[in-house]
Amino acid sequence: MHEITATIAADIEQISHLCSARLKSRPALGGPVPATVLRDSVGQTITAEGLGSEQVLKLWQQHLETACIAADHPGYLAFIPAAPTKLAAAFDMYVSAASIYGSTWLESAGAVYAENQALRWVADLAGFPANAGGVFVQGGTLGNLSALVAARDHAKRTREQLPQRWAVCLTDETHSSVAHMLRTVMDVEVIRVPGDAQGRLTGAALAATYDGLPAALREGIFAVVATAGTTNLGIVDDLEGIGAECKKHGWWMHVDGAYGGAALAAPSVRALFNGIEQADSFIVDPHKWLFSPFDCCALIYRDPAIGRMAHTQKADYLEVINEDFEWNPGDFAVHLTRRARGLPFWFSLAAHGSAAYSAAIEKTLQTAHAGARLVRDSEHLQLLLEPQLSVVIFRRKGWQPKDYAKWSERLLQEQIALVTPTRHRGEVCTRFVVVNPQTTLDDLQRVIDSMK
Ligand SMILES: *Cc1c(COP(=O)(O)O)cnc(C)c1O
Repeated sequence: MHEITATIAADIEQISHLCSARLKSRPALGGPVPATVLRDSVGQTITAEGLGSEQVLKLWQQHLETACIAADHPGYLAFIPAAPTKLAAAFDMYVSAASIYGSTWLESAGAVYAENQALRWVADLAGFPANAGGVFVQGGTLGNLSALVAARDHAKRTREQLPQRWAVCLTDETHSSVAHMLRTVMDVEVIRVPGDAQGRLTGAALAATYDGLPAALREGIFAVVATAGTTNLGIVDDLEGIGAECKKHGWWMHVDGAYGGAALAAPSVRALFNGIEQADSFIVDPHKWLFSPFDCCALIYRDPAIGRMAHTQKADYLEVINEDFEWNPGDFAVHLTRRARGLPFWFSLAAHGSAAYSAAIEKTLQTAHAGARLVRDSEHLQLLLEPQLSVVIFRRKGWQPKDYAKWSERLLQEQIALVTPTRHRGEVCTRFVVVNPQTTLDDLQRVIDSMK
């Protein structure tokens, strides 16, 4: 298995060829298949003798790959799509081949140096100070969790009196993973602040909610989670107002920009993010709108020493590493072993330049906003919210939830698009999310026409 035989060498060539073919062509959309069907077509693959690479590749290509949806298909408009650049995806193969243990400077200095430059670019977009820094983690869920763990650790270390119960403020539009992590992993009280007419968390609402809370809960608040680009609506919270409240009370301001943070690089919408520079921590998922392959979240602390204090793991065999400190990515989040998952993003950003990234993000914004105009001009549809970023949410007049479900299923079956139902103000509707520069207005028009 580890020797380079002629057969293995040929297999490597073949797999490399499949990768490049995938990257050079428009992918099929694909779609899920019942497990019973896969059991019939694929059967048992793990055997003592092995099936041989030829047979396994055949099973993969014929039955398994096609049962996965290509998130970079231009018609993938549901959830948050992916759109890795070709260079980022290609370099990801190299990262896999290179066996880099990306958690310590000792083992991955070159990779960490490169990743940190990509993090620095993100930090500069947000207007963070020169000593800001962090790490690439698996996704927004883990990035948010790691930031909030650091925030509470900091509160524990610095407060004279500890509250009975810790609490964090957020809204109903905050990503579901945040409240989930707070409750199930951190055992923290979640305080819901009502959003404004657009669903935004504002400084004023935060202040009003605070005033109405019992003293015990007030004292427990250590952080506020602001969202820069909500997942369902693409709305940016009132970061300036939230920042002012946080400053007044000494709360940690965390900004979840998993989806929307990428638009910091788009001059046309940059002003929406004013106030982000006050944040204590910030995340953005390059695997969403910064054209990186899965999985990749940039987590940045204003003061990385706080993140390190909270997350450094102590073990005898790790001491040699910790003493000789440079920048150990393992020390800044809830993880230890780490793939150098920021490298594909770094490679593409370094090769193409940041201007190409800004242009590509602007292009998706234009497509989304033009798509919103198409919706507004369609008799059978109703636009539910003017898009701020690249989420277009709308309803089909007269449709019941089952109509959306049937339509969504048909679009996937016909391999046209992946568009799924969602809810807005309790009512079932649907939405487009455009993060792929390859998605065209024609793609959106086709979906709109399919709802007639
Ligand atoms: C996607 C998303 C998350 C979760 O990120 P994962 O990478 O899926 O873990 C968190 N917050 C927001 C705003 C998101 O859009």
